[in-house]
Amino acid sequence: AQQFGMTEALAQLGIKAVNEGTSTGQNNFASGDILESYSPVDGQLIGKVKMSTAADYEKAMQAATEAFKTFRLMPAPQRGEIVRQFGEKLRKRKEALGKLVSYEMGKSLQEGYGEVQEMIDICDFAVGLSRQLHGLTMHSERPGHRMYEQYHPLGIVGIISAFNFPVAVWSWNTALAWIAGDVCIWKPSEKTPLCGIACQNIIAEVLKENNLPEGISCLVNGDYKIGELMTADTRVPLVSATGSTRMGKIVAQAVAARLGKSLLELGGNNAIIVTPDADIKMTVIGAVFGAVGTAGQRCTSTRRLIIHESIYDKVKDAIVGAYGQLRIGNPLDQNNHVGPLIDTHAVDLYKKALEQVVAEGGKILVEGEVLSGAGYESGCYVKPAIAEASNDFKIVQHETFAPVLYLLKYSGDVENAIELQNGVAQGLSSAIMTNNLREAEKFLSVAGSDCGIANVNIGTSGAEIGGAFGGEKETGGGRESGSDAWKIYMRRQTNTINYTTNLPLAQGIKFDL
Ligand code: NAD
Repeated sequence: AQQFGMTEALAQLGIKAVNEGTSTGQNNFASGDILESYSPVDGQLIGKVKMSTAADYEKAMQAATEAFKTFRLMPAPQRGEIVRQFGEKLRKRKEALGKLVSYEMGKSLQEGYGEVQEMIDICDFAVGLSRQLHGLTMHSERPGHRMYEQYHPLGIVGIISAFNFPVAVWSWNTALAWIAGDVCIWKPSEKTPLCGIACQNIIAEVLKENNLPEGISCLVNGDYKIGELMTADTRVPLVSATGSTRMGKIVAQAVAARLGKSLLELGGNNAIIVTPDADIKMTVIGAVFGAVGTAGQRCTSTRRLIIHESIYDKVKDAIVGAYGQLRIGNPLDQNNHVGPLIDTHAVDLYKKALEQVVAEGGKILVEGEVLSGAGYESGCYVKPAIAEASNDFKIVQHETFAPVLYLLKYSGDVENAIELQNGVAQGLSSAIMTNNLREAEKFLSVAGSDCGIANVNIGTSGAEIGGAFGGEKETGGGRESGSDAWKIYMRRQTNTINYTTNLPLAQGIKFDL
């Protein structure tokens, strides 16, 4: 990785090299065991991180609680100014942070840069929003009364994030939470702790330059045990958790048991419907990027292609042909299309999925393989695979976080394809490739896709920050990022003011003394 300038990138991000001891975030709530971060790119140890203990968590909580007391009083547009400065710093560190994302997580360098760009975009969005946290005004039924609603900050927002978007998901939450007046405690994935430290170092600089308390942004590194402290903690009114459906079910129950709010962004099982009127060239690019981008480790990765029987063979041949062009290797090398999986455990799940699809009666069209030899020393590189399958196979119903694409055939009307597309437990992203207006509108209608994201002539992966992001059913129902997603980070208050000398009651109720 040296040839790609990783040493300089780590230095720019304030991350200590392996032989210089542990890297900790600047607010340093970390005195526990060492967590080592190995790169799936080359299997090398990138850095060491101290994990947070329960006592560290408590300290972070106290810092956050104190910080909230003053941060909430700062006018929202001034908080927006802090987020603007954060966005500026991200612009300067885009290259370094993008490289670290690519090296620690394994996604292509372009996607690493893209992730940092997403952080910059959400900062810009949040800056504008800081002057627009609107409530409504209503007409009171009582004379001489005024009624309106306003939004106040919630308090401490707990953020639990997944390995596959190690920096962007945090910023989607924090940029909005901060302009809303909240303070944040972040537990990044234990698979990407250095990305967490790099982000923390950048925001810590901004806070310091503005004489603001560091408790506005707290980092606690560690595994699910730290996450559990957060989900059980009544001082955390909102827990935003991104990750597997398995994790989401545990988190949702823990937070609900104390009647807290949770924002869940969980697994997907995303499909593209390819109708007889589809543009095949666009379909191939959208489907292949969707299935192999980030080595199939996006929540919005394309897992299923639902193709009309009349064009099935044509589409199948085109996609299989495209897979033959894929270059698999070091994701920092921009000539490669596909990088590694996150770890060897993910490789095992990939292998099991391919075995299972065959056991259930599927037919492999593009063989999978775990790559070995020069450049593949980490043991995490796999060949993207394609199998012909049926929607009711257990393995097709399940999200395998790897580049395995299932081809499914439909006949008759587009309704049949929509039924297959909706016939899974998850409801994140969906797409239709068609130039037929009736099919497209049906897909978007009330009887169409049941997902949080439904695209026409675009694949399933790669969302813009301007829209609300999230999905239904086992994807958890949460919405983050654009549109009015900010509302979950605030508490709504309805205010009624009486400016008369009488006290009329609502609904005309009489009560005289
Ligand atoms: P994961 O569920 O293994 O871990 C996610 C996070 O949850 C980690 O930080 C982990 O430490 C924490 N965690 C695990 N158990 C916990 C518990 N009991 N209490 C509190 N915290 C706990 O997921 P992963 O492997 O890191 O990420 C992949 C998954 O994330 C996929 O299913 C993917 O679809 C999903 N994902 C969804 C979105 C979305 O926006 N919908 C975005 C990215 C990833």
